[in-house]
Amino acid sequence: MATIAFIGLGNMGLPMAGNLVRAGHQVRGFDLAAEARAAAQDLAVPVANTLVEACDEADVIITMLPAGRHVLTVWAELIETAGPGTLLIDCSTIDVDSARKAHLLAEGKSLVTLDAPVSGGTGGAAAGTLTFMAGGSEEAFQRALPVLEAMGKKIVHCGAAGAGQAAKICNNMILGISMIGVCEAFALGEKLGLSHQALFDVASTSSGQCWSLTSYCPVPGPVPASPANRDYRPGFAAALMLKDLRLAREAALASGAETPLGDHAARLYERFDEDGYGSRDFSAIIEMLRHG
Ligand code: NAD
Repeated sequence: MATIAFIGLGNMGLPMAGNLVRAGHQVRGFDLAAEARAAAQDLAVPVANTLVEACDEADVIITMLPAGRHVLTVWAELIETAGPGTLLIDCSTIDVDSARKAHLLAEGKSLVTLDAPVSGGTGGAAAGTLTFMAGGSEEAFQRALPVLEAMGKKIVHCGAAGAGQAAKICNNMILGISMIGVCEAFALGEKLGLSHQALFDVASTSSGQCWSLTSYCPVPGPVPASPANRDYRPGFAAALMLKDLRLAREAALASGAETPLGDHAARLYERFDEDGYGSRDFSAIIEMLRHG
């Protein structure tokens, strides 16, 4: 069992750290927010008073932070304190450029690094069923595997440094585009007098089948567990979808890729967010699309 420092005990980080504790690892968490530290103590996740204290004698340090700038700030500090051979894993969703910079910060320091963003949301974090997309050396991946297995059920080695983040934003660009496509189809079906159930029964067993339809169906009824059945409480908040679509747009610009539908999806989610709906589930965008 490993000694693990877990930095960032928010909506995702805290349940992930809880699963590491339950798996028998020795965990010390840290978060800047006193509220998050208190919530961790309530869930029996031990907390340290400082980043340095959390990382003291840790074999593995995991970060789960909001964005690239937070990760780079925290990594710059922990790289100075981590002992030789420590494995650093960043599970946050951040831009590919910052992910690569984080790996570079550790170069020449006898540290082993992995980017390993996740898919599966807060439900998957609590249930220990996340998918991890990892980028880094084979050594880093093999060392991380038993730790990640305590928090997830599917762990994919996507390639070298930054490849985990690249896979994450490509996947979520598909998700944003496909949700808009499914919403448009239901809105068109309504105008044509088609029932939601009829469209679902056909599309879910035909070539229109996709996760946005079968797991997060944007109208109430056909998929009882989808957020549409609870007034679009997330689920996966539209603001987080927008964050990921912006990361995809940034990566497309930097790499010269053409992503016209990804760009358009980002613009639609920007409008939805500006209208004040960022905290609703991302499937609620059907309400905006119905009215143009
Ligand atoms: P969150 O805002 O709930 O948690 C982030 C935590 O980091 C906060 O508690 C904050 O206080 C802490 N923090 C910020 N700066 C810090 C610092 N310098 N030192 C220590 N702690 C610091 O966010 P979240 O929902 O847990 O998401 C975390 C990451 O996971 C994000 O990158 C997000 O995009 C990604 N993600 C979220 C979901 C989801 O459904 N929430 C799903 C997949 C991926």
